[in-house]
Amino acid sequence: DPEPQLSKLDASKLVFERNTSPKALPEPNSPEVWAQNVCTDHMITCSWTSSTGWSTPNLKPYGPLSLMPTASVLHYATECFEGLKLYRGYDGKLRLFRPDRNCQRMLTSATRVALPAFDPKELQKLIEVLVATDGEKWLPKSRPGSFLYLRPTMIANDDHLGVRKPDEALLYVIACLFPSFDTGRGTAALDANPALREKERPGLKLLASKEDTVRAWPGGFGFAKVGANYGPSLMAQGEARAMGFDQVLWLLGKDCDVTEAGASNFFVVWRTREGRLQLVTAPLGDKIILDGVTRKSVLELARERLGGEVEVVERKYTMCELEAAVQEGRLLEAFAAGTAFFIASVSKIHFRGEDLEIPTGKGDSGNYAAVIKTWLHDIMYGQEQHEWGVIV
Ligand code: PMP
Repeated sequence: DPEPQLSKLDASKLVFERNTSPKALPEPNSPEVWAQNVCTDHMITCSWTSSTGWSTPNLKPYGPLSLMPTASVLHYATECFEGLKLYRGYDGKLRLFRPDRNCQRMLTSATRVALPAFDPKELQKLIEVLVATDGEKWLPKSRPGSFLYLRPTMIANDDHLGVRKPDEALLYVIACLFPSFDTGRGTAALDANPALREKERPGLKLLASKEDTVRAWPGGFGFAKVGANYGPSLMAQGEARAMGFDQVLWLLGKDCDVTEAGASNFFVVWRTREGRLQLVTAPLGDKIILDGVTRKSVLELARERLGGEVEVVERKYTMCELEAAVQEGRLLEAFAAGTAFFIASVSKIHFRGEDLEIPTGKGDSGNYAAVIKTWLHDIMYGQEQHEWGVIV
């Protein structure tokens, strides 16, 4: 086994190259920010080969990559990525939210597409160096409540067209300005988004996927954050947008199991026919669902803080069950949960020609989405000191 001789990913060897022509910082929510392509002044890169292992990591000016047209990633989708945020707290501190979860998931995803393994703790250290370098300028103290979106990525860049396990890879981490799709603490409206602001009722409108459009399946790779899950979903997403919906609600199989909403996990709050109050989401066991950091956090907080009041259930459930709950007035709330959109209430699901209207946490329901959202928001932005908020 040649493995022990290969160099390991080692953040302590990082070589710095400062950017000598840094950019100007755009105004919050300016058109440049909405373009979603403004990255900070630096990036992390680290290359790997099957014969030598990981090279010395670099922190260097943000800029283009150089790839041969034969590079494996361009043909065989040998890539994976992560998405997490750096938050500027109301206490003036910069925090990551559970970055260990993202680094661990990156390893899971890399392994699924034959990309090299690494110590997730070393990736976390590299992320921390990048945000320590660029965080102060890009999230000024004068803008509490703002964030950067971080995108760790790994690609196979072998210079040959053979359909085989990659021998070369590049790990990189970039940090981008992102518009706020969210109005912040406690509110579910996505009214910072011009497309949603137009609409009569707040909340996401979801179009249930049809049987011929499947996001993930047993034995596939839905649990991995690999590009191969996203490109093929964009046609359905485009169709949903053209019909006035925000996201696709991904269903699976002849029973129409409810899985995820767009690139977010999906939750419902309902009363069972026996009158029990439940927070329900699809389980991870079949490896169809992405193990979302927000999902996990919602489940953990709900178990810890709503324990007596709401049963927290991870199980398979179908569109029929959801439909019956709506018709019988037992569905109290539905929401999407993920890093990009955070916690977003769902107000409508279109399924087989009919609109299911869903309460958005007002009236006599518990408003659990808003309560959980406030808890998470407070941890992310330092209004509650919590081990999930990692100060950098
Ligand atoms: N499901 C999918 C398919 C996603 O792409 C994401 C975004 N990473 C999520 C769920 C939510 O995961 P997280 O809470 O870690 O952002």
